[in-house]
Amino acid sequence: MGGGGERISTAGYVGTDGRHRNISLAEEYPGHRLHLEVGERCPLVLGEATNIGLHERDVVDHLLRNTGDDRNDLFRRQPEAFRRPLVETLGRFPHGDIATQIGGDLVSVTSIISNPSQDPHSYEADAQVQLSLSKADVVIQNGGGYDSFVDSLLKGANNPKVVLLNASTISGYDQKPATGEFNEHLWYDFPTVKKVVSKLVSTFTTEEPSRAGTFAANASRFTEALGQLQATEAALRSSSAGEGVAITEPVPLYMLDAVGLVNKTPGKFSEAIEAGTDVSPVILRQTLALFSDRAVKLLAYNDQTSSPETKRVLAAAQKAGVAVVPVRETLPAGKDYLEWMTDTLASITAALK
Ligand SMILES: [Zn+2]
Repeated sequence: MGGGGERISTAGYVGTDGRHRNISLAEEYPGHRLHLEVGERCPLVLGEATNIGLHERDVVDHLLRNTGDDRNDLFRRQPEAFRRPLVETLGRFPHGDIATQIGGDLVSVTSIISNPSQDPHSYEADAQVQLSLSKADVVIQNGGGYDSFVDSLLKGANNPKVVLLNASTISGYDQKPATGEFNEHLWYDFPTVKKVVSKLVSTFTTEEPSRAGTFAANASRFTEALGQLQATEAALRSSSAGEGVAITEPVPLYMLDAVGLVNKTPGKFSEAIEAGTDVSPVILRQTLALFSDRAVKLLAYNDQTSSPETKRVLAAAQKAGVAVVPVRETLPAGKDYLEWMTDTLASITAALK
C-alpha cells in the first residue's frame, strides 16, 4: 500500500447515499495512487462525522489531522474500517489503473503484485491474494490464459457477490483462432480498452448508483484521451504503413498492427522468448539479420523479460542504429496508463521519422 515514499497530495470527500456516509481519502505517492474509502463499517469515523457537525470538507481535514500521515497504521488498527470495492488481478496492471481513472476516489484498487519488474506470466498467487479476492466487490481479470489463477482462487474465496470482469471476453475476439494464437496483451488494443471502460462504468454504477454522473464524466474524459491516441495511430498509419518492425515478444502487436507496421520477426523466435524456451541458432541468425540488413525500422523490446537471445537482439539493433521502443506487461514506475501509451506512441513516431 502507500507506506514508504513521500506523499505528494491528499484529497478527500464525504458523500452520503441516504443510508450512511462514506468518507473517502485519496493519497498520491510518487509512482502510484492510494485510495481508501471509509464507510458504514467504521463507527468511530462515522461518530466523528455525524457528531462533530463540521462541514464535510472539514471532516476530512479533521480525519487527516487525527489519523496522521500513516494510513497503513490506521489500516492495521481498524482492519474492518475500509471498504474495498475493487481488486485488480495484478498490481500496477493496466486494467487496474484504468479502473482507478474511471472510479476516481470512489474505488479502492488493491494490488496483487507490487513489484513493477515482476513478469506477470510467471507470477504465482498466494493466500494473501485469496484473502483480497474474498473481500472484493469487483475483480478484473485479463483472461486469455494470462491470469487463470484468479478462477481457482475465486472458487475458494467464498465471495458469491463478486462481479468478475474478464477483458478477453469483453474484447469479443476469438480466443481460440484457427490460425495463430490469441494475443492476450489487450492493453495495447484501444478498441478493447474502450469496451472495458464502458463495462467498468456500468459495473460501478450498479454498485454506487448515486455516483453514476461521476463515473460517466471520468469515462468520457478517458475515452476522449484514448481517441487522441487512436488519431495518432491513424496518422502514423497513413505515413508509415508497410514499414517492417521486429519484436522480442507478441506484447505490442495490437498497437503495431493499428499503425500498419509489418512484423518481420520469425514467429519461432518471439514464441520461444515468450514461452521461455530455447531459440535455435538458425532462427536467431535470421532474427539478427533483420537489423544488419536494415529490414526493420524499430525493435519493440520487452524489458521485463531478458534472456541471452533477447540481449543479442537488442545489441544488434543498437549496433545497426535501429530504434528501440520499450514495451511492457505492467505500468512503468511513475506513469499512468494514458501517459505510458502516449510515451509508447511517441517512441514509435520518433523511430519512424
Ligand atoms: Zn506477455
